[in-house]
Amino acid sequence: MTIRTRFAPSPTGYLHVGGARTALFSWLHAKKTNGQFILRIEDTDRERSTEASVQAIFDGMEWLGLTHDEGPFFQTDRFPRYMEIIQQLLDQGDAYHCYCSSEQVEAVREEQRANKQKPRYNGKCRHRTDTVEGVNPVVRFKNPEQGVVIFNDLVRGEISISNEELDDLIIARSNGTPTYNLTVVVDDLDMNMTHIIRGDDHINNTPRQINIMKALGAQIPSFAHLPMILGDDGARLSKRHGAVSVMQYRDDGFLPEALLNYLVRLGWSHGDQEIFSREEMIELFDLKDVNRTASAFNTEKLLWINQQYIMSADPDSLTAPLADQLVTLGCDVENGPDLREIVITQQERAKTLKEMAEKSLLFYNDYEAFDEKAAKKSLKAAALEPLEMMLGKFEELSDWSKEPLHQVILDTAEVLDLKLGKVAQPLRVALTGTSVSPALDATLLLLGKKLCLKNIPRAIEFIKAKIVAQES
Ligand code: GLU
Repeated sequence: MTIRTRFAPSPTGYLHVGGARTALFSWLHAKKTNGQFILRIEDTDRERSTEASVQAIFDGMEWLGLTHDEGPFFQTDRFPRYMEIIQQLLDQGDAYHCYCSSEQVEAVREEQRANKQKPRYNGKCRHRTDTVEGVNPVVRFKNPEQGVVIFNDLVRGEISISNEELDDLIIARSNGTPTYNLTVVVDDLDMNMTHIIRGDDHINNTPRQINIMKALGAQIPSFAHLPMILGDDGARLSKRHGAVSVMQYRDDGFLPEALLNYLVRLGWSHGDQEIFSREEMIELFDLKDVNRTASAFNTEKLLWINQQYIMSADPDSLTAPLADQLVTLGCDVENGPDLREIVITQQERAKTLKEMAEKSLLFYNDYEAFDEKAAKKSLKAAALEPLEMMLGKFEELSDWSKEPLHQVILDTAEVLDLKLGKVAQPLRVALTGTSVSPALDATLLLLGKKLCLKNIPRAIEFIKAKIVAQES
């Protein structure tokens, strides 16, 4: 039997990391078994569903590379089918019209609460045969009154719920629209789902859904309920914890592989291994290794994983996303230095592509003024001679590549009998205005000859002016 799993988000916001983790586990379970992964948009709540959210789901899934084999299906396209099933359940006596107003239902609940009973629908219309003039009824599913629903959750083990705990849930509202528990069952059956993998916030729905499935004579699929993701303060992960939208992570300079790698470890482990390629995840993932307990989101660890991926990435694969970051920061990437060279230079120095772009701004915008501390320390009279000597050598250099550039610095230190730092640090401040930059040969290369030959004299003038000021 072909394994079929699905991701069934409601498009009422962006794709958040919890949803992405659910999608990933579903996708992995399908991939590892050569099965099929289906994308279904549960957009029946028309007030809360928006096109922008649908697009955000597509964008997030695409960016993460969680491709679907079928779909996307939209529940709003399937209303006639849901109506058909509601009618079938009514016809076969497994559903009934309920004319109780929400006030009446609430009043009963109040009373039950007051009597310390579990609030539930009291079944008033269950055996009713007449209709009530002027009232549009809801349709309720006739949940079995006796017996137990037992299912073997692939994460949590056996779960059993007594039918006495479950009341007759509404499957169609008074305006005729179907509710979540009905649509999800119809879709999961019509789409031949073998495994329903979802967040454990749905665990209470599962016995109800199983009962509807049974009433429809269906074979019951397997279920796996994934534990929640908590923020670092122990509360359920939410917007309050900063970036939880998948696309926000892209904008913040994370790589999709790194985020996936981080997400797969949220609630699943394979020994002590931390880094998993996509292929390894598919090979090693197993629902039985998913934790039962909630896992906490840890941004520091995500940053660490992202850094590992940046360090080991093929530089060519980072040029396009780095360019996006640079453009966001206002850089003219088209007329700037070679992006591949920037990546190679910065790969070891940034935890995110955003940080890499920020650290590369100096290659696009000349500095406004020398950093005061750096200038005080490095742009002194003693730096004049090495800077002037290097300027002369750079002017004559025809091959503006790393090796000869590096050689100029070495030669200058040797000729003047100075420690390398006494030559290199003034040059760094002259070139960048600060005391921190990537390796000097790379910095010279990326700034380009023109800018270097402008900036070194700028530092020389600065030192000369300082000497004059001191003398007067
Ligand atoms: N649409 C539901 C949600 O976004 C998921 C339903 C399911 O996976 O069964 O929470």
